[in-house]
Amino acid sequence: MTDRVHVNLFINGRWVKAGNGEKIEIVNPATEEVVATACQAGRVDTEMAIDAAKQAFPVWRSVTPWERSKILRKTASLLGERATEIARRVVLDCGKPITQSLGEVKSAGEIIDWFADEARRIYGEVLPGRNLHNRLHTLYEPIGVAAGFTAFNFPIVLLSRKIAAALAAGCPIICRPAEEGSVCAAELVKCFVDAGIPAGVINLLTGKPEEISDTILASPVVRKISFTGSVPVGQRLIRGAADTVKRVTMELGGHAPVIVHADADPEKVASGAVFAKFRNNGQVCVSPTRFFVHRSHGERFTRALIDATAKLKIGDGNDPEVDIGPLINRRRLEAVEQMVEKTVAEGGFVVFGGKRPEHLKKGFFFEPTIITDITDDMTVMRREPFGPLALITSFSSLEEVVERANAVDYGLASYVFTNSLQFAHQTVSALKAGIVTVNGWSGSLAEMPFGGVKYSGYGREGGSQGIFEYLDVKFFNLNFD
Ligand code: NAD
Repeated sequence: MTDRVHVNLFINGRWVKAGNGEKIEIVNPATEEVVATACQAGRVDTEMAIDAAKQAFPVWRSVTPWERSKILRKTASLLGERATEIARRVVLDCGKPITQSLGEVKSAGEIIDWFADEARRIYGEVLPGRNLHNRLHTLYEPIGVAAGFTAFNFPIVLLSRKIAAALAAGCPIICRPAEEGSVCAAELVKCFVDAGIPAGVINLLTGKPEEISDTILASPVVRKISFTGSVPVGQRLIRGAADTVKRVTMELGGHAPVIVHADADPEKVASGAVFAKFRNNGQVCVSPTRFFVHRSHGERFTRALIDATAKLKIGDGNDPEVDIGPLINRRRLEAVEQMVEKTVAEGGFVVFGGKRPEHLKKGFFFEPTIITDITDDMTVMRREPFGPLALITSFSSLEEVVERANAVDYGLASYVFTNSLQFAHQTVSALKAGIVTVNGWSGSLAEMPFGGVKYSGYGREGGSQGIFEYLDVKFFNLNFD
């Protein structure tokens, strides 16, 4: 039995209870025990957070970029010092194995550190005027109060991307993390607070998503929303942002294709694919899912992927030997289970996994699963499975494979394996995706823009582009005769 912790709301620099006194319970997905509670913020709490952020805006935008940078750098350093403790919390609340949780906290530190530098690099432009007494300038200014909503699967990284970018730009932010990530979010916010963020600049609201977001969407004070989650919720927020004409960043679902060309080594690709596919149990927006393997490789890729997957250990993520933890909740477990059943009914053949592991009686565990005989008309090829499913099909030509890879609503990550520069260039330019990785699996780095196209959303987080999501451009026309 673990000691339960409780998370209050963080509004205007103070940890406070929700006005309605309601709480949500957070369940360890590996044991099904309640391990924490969090306040359920409602409309009144949200209005208080908006007001606090409004008051904090003139304060925070007047802090110089160099000073903002120092605070962000200190936050990254505090996160590093507290990494083990915070990673343990990620394991407990979200089920992510400890090494992966530690990796997540490290990535979040890199993101905050990156934006510490970006705060000092908000360059404008100066253009020659239309006459000798005229200069044309562009200036970037913070957009105002921002709000960030995040999913459970990277409870520290997703929130760090939003908070760090907003703060670097000079914007206060109201955060609403996923229920399951509430404690992790509070630990992250404490790092910012201990690093010296003034009151009202960060506000944390856990609890009822609709009530919080509807209040935020209705407020003309909030000028920007950034959401990470599913397409339907993203669409709802986009519609809601229209009335007050808010700027929007959407990081939505993905259904990443992997193209293994004829000249690639299928065994080598499979040895990397096993981690990329099954990390966080496939609950990753950039998870490689649709494997298109060139017909000439026969069964080599499938056999190698089965061999590598058979070596993975499934269990409670606190065990450092464990590679695969549970899915986040019973709803996701049942959704993945049903997706496997449907795929089999539509003609798919499960060559590995496909069910709950027999030796684990508690927890939302599902075996890493490999399915062959996949055809493009199957439901699973159109709908993001967001679980540990590797779907294998074959192809004959580059033209054919890019057309099939692009034939989904999503366009987030994609992966290409080839030794030919020509194939690499042709495939990269033909793929409709925000991220293409050639001969590797890393599609998310602090220094590079992260985001998708089509239904996967718009706007970018990270890279030199990320900060501009929180800045308005002003055209300043100076005449001096
Ligand atoms: P979800 O959309 O159901 O929930 C995401 C978050 O939004 C949760 O915290 C939820 O409580 C909250 N939410 C629900 N309704 C809301 C509302 N009306 N207003 C505000 N917040 C609301 O998604 P999920 O199943 O928890 O997460 C998985 C999805 O997120 C997948 O589609 C995955 O691909 C996507 N995702 C995308 C990225 C990315 O960067 N593109 C990263 C991680 C996850």
